[in-house]
Amino acid sequence: MSKIIVLSAPSGCGKSTLINYLMTSHPELNLHFSISATSRPPRGTEQHGKEYYFLTPEEFRRRIEADEFVEYCEVYTDRFYGTLRSEVDSRLSRGENVIMDIDVVGAANVKRCYGEHALTIFIKPPSVQALRQRLESRGTDSPEVIDQRIDRAEYEIAQAEHFDAIVVNDDLATAQKTLLQVLNQRL
Ligand code: 5GP
Repeated sequence: MSKIIVLSAPSGCGKSTLINYLMTSHPELNLHFSISATSRPPRGTEQHGKEYYFLTPEEFRRRIEADEFVEYCEVYTDRFYGTLRSEVDSRLSRGENVIMDIDVVGAANVKRCYGEHALTIFIKPPSVQALRQRLESRGTDSPEVIDQRIDRAEYEIAQAEHFDAIVVNDDLATAQKTLLQVLNQRL
């Protein structure tokens, strides 16, 4: 049975590194990344159709009306993120597994929608203090933004118990191994 693997984590927990590891080092898992749609502008080298489908808020709304999303959220006015049905359903019917990187609310919605077909995994920092140190040493965010990310992380960590599995990312190699074990058991 093909599965949807949903990874959620507070920002700074190494989620993209873990997804890259699974997709490049474990082709046998037959994982295909679900490209989300967003109405935020591209950052840095991000390309339409690679990291995200970049849509205008108007186009996003039109597609919500047309019921094209499995789940979506509007984080603030006109800033949308969502999972397109077209990214998921055709893959599942071909027997492929789909992996996605979405927030904790989206993860709960995907679970509600797909039930046993969905495997939700929460990537957890070893502690909030360790996460703060990581964000500080990364040096990309102002102290105010770090405080916001920590507040959000505390909320997200409180949702971890609703996931099918929790993987603590303290040491990267250990987290990779644990994640692989979870997938091998459940796929
Ligand atoms: P960023 O703007 O940094 O790329 O992503 C911000 C947040 O949006 C991340 O927590 C990411 O997991 C979440 N996100 C990305 N795509 C989706 C999606 O399709 N649905 C939901 N619910 N959240 C998403």
